[in-house]
Amino acid sequence: MSDITKQSLTELVENIKNKKLSSTDVTKAFIDRSEKSGELNAYITNDFTSALDKAKKFDQKPNLDSKLPGIPMAVKDLFCTKNIKTTAGSKILNNFVPTYESTVTENIWNEGAILLGKLNCDEFAMGSSNETSFFGNVQSPIDKNLVPGGSSGGSASAVAGQLTPVTIGTDTGGSIRQPASFTGIVGLKPTYGSCSRYGIVAFASSLDQAGPMAQNVKDCALLHEVISSYDPKDSTSIDFKRNHYSKDLSNNIKGKKIGIPKEYRVDGMPKEIEDLWQKGIQCIKDCGAETIDISLPNTSYALPTYYIVAPAEASSNLARYDGVKYGFRAKGENLIDMYEKTRSEGFGAEVQRRIMIGTYVLSSGYYDAYYLKAQKVRKLIKNDFDEAYKKVDAILTPSTPSSAFKIGEKTNDPVSMYLNDIFTVPVNLAGLPGISIPAGHDSKGYPLGLQIIGKAFDEQNILNIAFAMEEKINFKNKITDWWIK
Ligand code: GLN
Repeated sequence: MSDITKQSLTELVENIKNKKLSSTDVTKAFIDRSEKSGELNAYITNDFTSALDKAKKFDQKPNLDSKLPGIPMAVKDLFCTKNIKTTAGSKILNNFVPTYESTVTENIWNEGAILLGKLNCDEFAMGSSNETSFFGNVQSPIDKNLVPGGSSGGSASAVAGQLTPVTIGTDTGGSIRQPASFTGIVGLKPTYGSCSRYGIVAFASSLDQAGPMAQNVKDCALLHEVISSYDPKDSTSIDFKRNHYSKDLSNNIKGKKIGIPKEYRVDGMPKEIEDLWQKGIQCIKDCGAETIDISLPNTSYALPTYYIVAPAEASSNLARYDGVKYGFRAKGENLIDMYEKTRSEGFGAEVQRRIMIGTYVLSSGYYDAYYLKAQKVRKLIKNDFDEAYKKVDAILTPSTPSSAFKIGEKTNDPVSMYLNDIFTVPVNLAGLPGISIPAGHDSKGYPLGLQIIGKAFDEQNILNIAFAMEEKINFKNKITDWWIK
């Protein structure tokens, strides 16, 4: 069967189940394409040889009742994978081989999937362009000169470039939705507490969530169904009744009320983004749902709040990298000198900037003025959503304030880089689910995404809205395969 890598996850699962394809055929096809993708730099570590072995073993004794039977899959290098190097895109973890598996990846392998390798990302998931990775930047399969977004840039590039049928990323302030939007794919950030954080390299623990990235909404629903589970090993994991997200998927959204928040019409927003949003509003109406103007008055405080809370938590989480227990160690004259050299040589500039901001806002004397204040504003942002959800079932916004930018365009201006997250961070601060779906192209032909934000634990509803819109929008990604010689 030709063009295996063009098939969706759902099609591959079906074809393996009805024996039209073997796991070996599928795994070989994705390995072959991944091997040609060096220029994209989407992988940090590949595990192709053992992936092929596992595929052959699967074919000898296939478990066709599993949800991901013999499906090869690469994952972001922020998920601990037992006996496979896990770097978080950092020099400080360049030699780290976990002795345990993250719960979400464990869930994936338990359903029959096979690890292809570990995907590039911004260092400790701090970034919006995949340019802070110690392992070099990732290029977009859309255009050689474009960033794929970040921090799950390798993941986005790998799905859009068909190096893996689907993947998982993590989203602390937009790292699934923004790269999904930049590369024309679907990305879901689940409700905080829906997917276990156990075994994920921590960035900002009260914001981090794992989530699926896929070519279409159905695949995204299927992968979410696999990774979302209650886990006693994560004290913030929540025990609630989870849907069969893919089986329960429905494009009937008649009568749903969708909020359009006026505060997301930010100053200087390009006309193309405004037009896309209008197109989304029309699409919602064509699907038989109703749109309602709403207000989320504290939206403009979300970005400054995020850039206090996230670095504060990061500075605390990253204190563990001291060159003693694991990871890179620099030589020093004495213990303190060793700590200092390890951390200044092991962490890149962006991570050091966040650690400095974080320790500053947590220091006595500034704690009340910054950290405590940010926590209060965070609550106000959450209250805005609670208020809105008394009137509406979900909210529609653009995913990002622009299409993908050029490699190097924003590297010297961290604030303009941070502005990229303006539409995504409020969702993490409030702990809500949000999904980005490809919805159009800008004048240069680059993809643009729309975001649907849901109530807590209402993933099924936003998946359904995304599913209905996807059908109407009928987006076609323009992948040129420029990297294949
Ligand atoms: N771009 C944001 C940041 O740099 C979000 C990152 C993320 O979601 N991991 O913090």
